[in-house]
Amino acid sequence: MKLVIGWLYASTMNIYGDRGNVIALHRRAEWRGIRVEIREIGIGDPIPEDVNCFFWGGGQDQEQAAVAADMQGTKGEALRAAIEDGASLLAVCGGYQLLGHEYRPHNAAPQPGVGLFDAVSTAGPERFIGNVIVESEWGELVGFENHSGLTTLGPTATPMGRVRVGRGNNGRDGTEGARYRNAVGCYLHGSLLPKNPALADWLVERALARRRGDVQLEPLPDTIESMAHAEAVARAAATR
Ligand code: GLN
Repeated sequence: MKLVIGWLYASTMNIYGDRGNVIALHRRAEWRGIRVEIREIGIGDPIPEDVNCFFWGGGQDQEQAAVAADMQGTKGEALRAAIEDGASLLAVCGGYQLLGHEYRPHNAAPQPGVGLFDAVSTAGPERFIGNVIVESEWGELVGFENHSGLTTLGPTATPMGRVRVGRGNNGRDGTEGARYRNAVGCYLHGSLLPKNPALADWLVERALARRRGDVQLEPLPDTIESMAHAEAVARAAATR
C-alpha cells in the first residue's frame, strides 16, 4: 500500500504549526509499514493524479488571494474530482475557507472558492482566538482557533461537529467546520492531527480505500497522543 499526500500550498499557507498535520499523516502510515510520498502542490502546479490524501493549511488573507486565483478553473475542478472519486482531505482555516464558495476579507476583493463545501466565509469584526473542543463522529476533537473569518454553512453542508468549547464556524450556530464525502474542513490549528489520532487514521484509511476498497488500520499505542489530547482538553475546559 502507498499513501500519496498532496500538500496544497505548503510554502504559502502553513501557519500555526499546520505542517504537523502532514507529519502526523506521514508517521501514522509509516508506523504501519505503509509507504508514503509527499507532493507539495504550489501556485502554478497541477493536481497530481496519484494523490489520495490532501492537506491544505491556514494562511494570512493576502496569501489567500493569490492562492484563490490559482485554484480557479481546471485546478479546482481536478481537486473536486479527486474528492468525488474518494480521496481524503483535511483543510484548516484559510484552506477551509477557500474550499467554500467564497471568502470575503476585510477591505479587499472577495476571493473565489473551490465550491467543495456549501459554505461562505466573511471576515468579521472580532478575531476568534483560543482553545476549541468539538464533539464529532471521530469523538472529542481538540484544537486551537485563530481566525476572523465567520463561516456560514449552506443547506447542503454537513458540519464537522458541534462546538463544546470555543467559537467554531461563526460563534453563533454552534457548528465547527464542514464535511463532504472524505473531505473535512475546520478552524482547528494546533496542529490538529497529532492530538486527535482517530481523525488522522480516518484520513489515512479513506485515502487507501480509494484504490483498495475498505481498509482497517491496525491500532497504534497512542499513549503520548492521548496524553497530549487530555492536556489540551483540560486547558480548553479551564478557559470556559
Ligand atoms: N482568513 C483567515 C482568517 O479568517 C486567515 C487566518 C488563518 O488561516 N488562520 O483569519
